[in-house]
Amino acid sequence: MSDIKKSRVAIIPCDTYDEDTVYECLKKGLRELGGIEEFVSPGEKILVKLNLLSAAQPERAVTTHPSVLKAVLRILSEADCSFVRYGDSPGYGTCESVIKMLGVEEECFGAKSTSMSEAVHVDFPEGMTCREFDFCKEIVESDAIINVCKMKTHALERITGAVKNVYGFVCGYRKAAGHVKFPNATVFARMLADIHRCTKPRLHIMDGIVAMEGNGPGSGDPVPMNVLIVSRDPVAIDAVFCYLVNLDPEIIPTNSQGIRMGIGTDKEEEIEMILCGKDGSRVITKSELFEKYGNPDFDVPRGKPRGTFLMRYSGLMTRLARRPVIDTSKCVKCGICVNHCPVPGKAVEFKNGKDNPPVYDYKKCIRCYCCQEMCPKHAISAKHGLLIGRKRKDKR
Ligand code: SF4
Ligand code: SF4
Repeated sequence: MSDIKKSRVAIIPCDTYDEDTVYECLKKGLRELGGIEEFVSPGEKILVKLNLLSAAQPERAVTTHPSVLKAVLRILSEADCSFVRYGDSPGYGTCESVIKMLGVEEECFGAKSTSMSEAVHVDFPEGMTCREFDFCKEIVESDAIINVCKMKTHALERITGAVKNVYGFVCGYRKAAGHVKFPNATVFARMLADIHRCTKPRLHIMDGIVAMEGNGPGSGDPVPMNVLIVSRDPVAIDAVFCYLVNLDPEIIPTNSQGIRMGIGTDKEEEIEMILCGKDGSRVITKSELFEKYGNPDFDVPRGKPRGTFLMRYSGLMTRLARRPVIDTSKCVKCGICVNHCPVPGKAVEFKNGKDNPPVYDYKKCIRCYCCQEMCPKHAISAKHGLLIGRKRKDKR
């Protein structure tokens, strides 16, 4: 018998956003982790951190669904937690506008929404990649953070889940500077792990009832995955997401760097998966989980991150490299992508005047995909170099 202490992950099948059903499912999952009382106490200041990327209808799967938020708040209220706030720091727009779009009241089960718009500088000398942050004031003021993330694809990190969701702790526009300072998926993932090490969220809940595939995190397609996932280990939650879509967890930078920096595990032998079904709870294996609830066609980049030695030195890598591309038929020339490009001197610009779509300078572009994430018309997607050429040829 192995004596490894495993990360416990509760997986709760749920195929509806009916509020009572989501509440019952979440409660069932938390019971497997010892109940909400394992994570918070009544006298504590609690922040429920959502994924409120932008003001989109809940059905678009851009944000944490309001039913999941309400279930969390209801459970906290029943546990006599009287100082609870909820929100996020969206990359574009305000927290208030996103919450309004979700149709949630400013006060819900005694909890209040909070704007997360004021920054506080935090030194973190123990940081392995990042030693200072400009966090939202609410992060610093809270005793306990509950991270309620969304199951989605992500152009930079391939997926966004529990590990990536903490980037919203960084206040407003300051997120853009982080992309320049940590300019690739690996180093960015290490910085995210430092945020976890610094802020230590107590509990992670993933809304995977309807996930987003394809051009995530803001412009992809909703796809039912019919699960809620709960754990105190953020990497293990993201690993279960990978298991469900038959994606190698090792190629996800937030997993591999999260492990290296000690915030969790993606190894099946180190994760105890508990399936909380209608007939009770039991341990489930990765293969059985995939067989019963998996989606092999989930649209997410699956290729290995590095090319062969020969490919790199033949220049093929440069031509193959993914890059943001504008679908000019969808572009309304709003300039949001230009405004959000964090690179000094801009890697996307109105080179042909504001009556034409912006144009990329791929030599300057660091592939942070802030432009893709923020485009309100879903006109930008990440494509491989050779595919861009092929599409152009097809169009001619
Ligand atoms: S943000 Fe999107 S719609 Fe706006 S200019 Fe850029 S590509 Fe066009
Ligand atoms: S052009 Fe887009 S992907 Fe490239 S650096 Fe600017 S925001 Fe990032």
